[in-house]
Amino acid sequence: MQRNNYQKAIHDPIFSIITGAAKELGASTYVIGGFVRDYLLQRGTPKDIDIVVVGSGIALAQKVASKLQGKPKVTVFKNFGTAMIKQGDLELEFVGARKESYDRDSRKPVVEDGSLEEDQKRRDFTINALAISLNASDYGALIDPFDGLGDLDRMLIRTPLEPGITFSDDPLRMLRAIRFATQLGFEIQLESLRAIAENKARIKIISGERIIEELHKILACSKPSIGFGLLHKTGLLPYILPELVALEGIEEIEGQRHKDNFWHTLEVVDNIAETTDDVWLRWAALLHDIGKAPTKRFHKKIGWTFHGHEYVGSKMVYKLFKRLHMPLNDKMKYVQKMVMMSSRPIVLSEAYVTDSAVRRLVFDAGENVEDLMTLCEADITTKNPAKQRKYKNNFKLVRQKIIEVEERDHIRNFQPPVSGEEIMQTFNLKPSKEIGIIKEAIKEAILEGEIPNEHGAARDFMLKKGKAMGL
Ligand code: ATP
Ligand code: MG
Repeated sequence: MQRNNYQKAIHDPIFSIITGAAKELGASTYVIGGFVRDYLLQRGTPKDIDIVVVGSGIALAQKVASKLQGKPKVTVFKNFGTAMIKQGDLELEFVGARKESYDRDSRKPVVEDGSLEEDQKRRDFTINALAISLNASDYGALIDPFDGLGDLDRMLIRTPLEPGITFSDDPLRMLRAIRFATQLGFEIQLESLRAIAENKARIKIISGERIIEELHKILACSKPSIGFGLLHKTGLLPYILPELVALEGIEEIEGQRHKDNFWHTLEVVDNIAETTDDVWLRWAALLHDIGKAPTKRFHKKIGWTFHGHEYVGSKMVYKLFKRLHMPLNDKMKYVQKMVMMSSRPIVLSEAYVTDSAVRRLVFDAGENVEDLMTLCEADITTKNPAKQRKYKNNFKLVRQKIIEVEERDHIRNFQPPVSGEEIMQTFNLKPSKEIGIIKEAIKEAILEGEIPNEHGAARDFMLKKGKAMGL
């Protein structure tokens, strides 16, 4: 091992402050984990720095804070024996070196104080166990007992200890392995991959929240299909997203086949990852076809159909979010809406596009109309170049039409041009269903293009409609 080779990684003044603090406490200290890995991979500026100390992490954090300008607050997690200091956007995490042993029913280990080496052994992957010394005697030395450096070169995810034990002890590590493989474009070592497959059922002890955190990170990658492919290959996916697994496979009856909607979905997710960073739109892409499994039918004359899959799919989104403890908020509603509307622009692009059809699309999609178009464009996975070109061009026309219609009719955030108040006053009505009928008729007339979206025209229309209703 070369000494003092990695001083460049720890040139930030914060590290010498930590060195000074540890020296005062008579403890040796190291920077470890993601910071070291990402420095060696040149993966940009870190968001968090993990510091391990042979001694008390909390005491070191307090000592460091006392030396920092403005004496920042130390957040102590007593149960975990860790402490955190926020420095601008950066989080400094302090932990005492520890040895861990696990109980079968929980991922909460029994923790004892330990040496640096014991602490490195409890880490999930060799590339996450790399440490750089912050001690004066060998400042900047890389401490790499499991050849994590070699694994960075080989682009390999490998566990420091026997993989079966590592994954069984804390099954969250199975998802972390897959997430790192997706983020870094690394392979999971074959033995580790097998161990994941063997321990897949252990994922049951992991909370929905932790699972979702990893799924979010996989979805945020530039090629999320790597992660979902690995979840599928290891057999984890049925425990996490059985709705997706149900889409797998091609059936053939009387020579008629449908596409494999699982692999199609993964292509759609990769496509959309090229055009948007919005993780919720990526979720919508992942779930847009889940209603196809329960709605699949075969008809002798027309072949395979998935009638109503959009509606069924949007209902399934709710159940899926609930099961995984995802927030049941606007984000969920957004994903539901995207799934519900996912075929609408396709229908438009296939036929001659009328203005009124476009107005209805914009009315129903509202502010999400662009996202919906993005989803539909990502949905094009045909391998036939001529068809590919044709579909893309059709969507371009729909997008153009949306802009034209929107400039003229302002449907996107539709506000009724005649209020219920005005209708009540005009016909001397009390709140009643007639008002709703008139309002609906005005809206329909605007969407159909019978009248422009303006107060004058809408008022004239209201007067006529009222008369026809005998008001
Ligand atoms: P990122 O911050 O990009 O997700 P990271 O490697 O820093 O990557 P963290 O979750 O911040 O990941 O964890 C910091 C370090 O703690 C890891 O590098 C690893 O050494 C260790 N670690 C985290 N979670 C586990 C786990 N479940 N099992 C074992 N070690 C873990
Ligand atoms: Mg980290």
